[in-house]
Amino acid sequence: MLVVKTTGVTPKITRRDIARFWTKVKSRSESECWLWQAARIPDGYGNFTVSWAVPQGVMKVWIGAHRVSWFLANGEWPAKGLDVCHRCDNPPCVNPAHLFLASHKENMRGAAAKGRLGPGALVPTAYIDEIRSMLGRGTPSGVIAARFGLEEYAVKRLERRARARAIADGDLLLHRR
Ligand SMILES: [Zn+2]
Repeated sequence: MLVVKTTGVTPKITRRDIARFWTKVKSRSESECWLWQAARIPDGYGNFTVSWAVPQGVMKVWIGAHRVSWFLANGEWPAKGLDVCHRCDNPPCVNPAHLFLASHKENMRGAAAKGRLGPGALVPTAYIDEIRSMLGRGTPSGVIAARFGLEEYAVKRLERRARARAIADGDLLLHRR
């Protein structure tokens, strides 16, 4: 059985995970960006997966590679409500010298200022298409939120909007027949 991350789970990172992490990074001098070479989520952020055994099965967590890098450099995860942000504004970069913490609000404000967020949304525009298609496939909003590092209410809001639009388009009525 696979248990997927629910909010509030602290990932367990082993030495093996750490070694695996660094094989996916092109590390260079401190001033340059260290680019993540493996899987990326649509916005360009690196994606690192860790899994470990729990009594119910396997806990699997997807974590932003830049968050893992911050953890490895600082020995702890950012406190709740804090995002790991890039000074270099380069999402796949995991150079710890380029990372800093900001509140989620500040980060979203920064992203909105840079035009990376949809109108009045809490979901970066680059994620929206993929989130919509995941919702369309019936993926629970909590799973999507964890996958993209978003608050679940932001995904739910997108889901409600998609449903409202479907009704407006007559989609739902069609499906009911
Ligand atoms: Zn960088």
